[in-house]
Amino acid sequence: MAAPGPLSLNTVTVRDAWNLAQCIEGCARHGIPGISPWRDRLAEMGLAAAARRIREAGLRVTGLCRGGMFPAADAAGRRAAIEDNRRAIAEAQALGAECLVVLGGGLPPGSKDLPGARAMFRDGLAAVLPEARAAGVTLALEPLHPMTCADRSVLSTLAQALDLCDEMGEGLGVAVDAYHVWWDPDLARQVARAGRRIAAFHACDWLVPTTDLVFDRGMPGDGVIDLPGLRAMVEASGYRGAVEVEILSRRWWAEDPETVLRIVKQRHATAC
Ligand code: ZN
Repeated sequence: MAAPGPLSLNTVTVRDAWNLAQCIEGCARHGIPGISPWRDRLAEMGLAAAARRIREAGLRVTGLCRGGMFPAADAAGRRAAIEDNRRAIAEAQALGAECLVVLGGGLPPGSKDLPGARAMFRDGLAAVLPEARAAGVTLALEPLHPMTCADRSVLSTLAQALDLCDEMGEGLGVAVDAYHVWWDPDLARQVARAGRRIAAFHACDWLVPTTDLVFDRGMPGDGVIDLPGLRAMVEASGYRGAVEVEILSRRWWAEDPETVLRIVKQRHATAC
């Protein structure tokens, strides 16, 4: 099998120990060519300063996390989400990010209307897509595992994300995150269907047992996902981008980030 595409560090992997400036320096020091920042840390550092430091370090920005989250209890909440996504698109453009990762968002508090929440997601996306196109920012729809449907993502499968891409066209793509799609019996068919619309590939592993559904992701190679198989599938579909390692894990957050980056590099080479 061919060597994996270039490594990118999703900064959530060392979220507790390092701010964005430290992540940029860390990637440069460890020879990691890509970075994918989160917006809270971007705001803390300042957009202009972050863009400059990332450029000076010679890093590519494989994604900005995250936009979307459109469902809300009332019209004011939905408008606020749309405004926030407009800011996220501008930030992604300023960083030269390869995509803005877009999440579904969960059900509004107290709601049992899942189709309604999905319609709100669709409408929010339609509202911001013209800006994304004008900015040249790809909105990468990232379906999350259905266990998160209530509180994080009413967008649960690649098929659902690709239906939206089919409907709305240019400017939309998908982010394939191993943690969220590996279980899907329709995975191979949907990855093939996605083709060149795959805008990002996120790698981590599914541990057995998983002790927390959000914050116990595994280091590539420590779990049950056939990551090289999934990568081959994505590449056969035409994806030529980075392998972005994204690990939300209390276990890894407690480690020295220098150690985490060393292991991430090793596993990128041997387990992705
Ligand atoms: Zn992801």
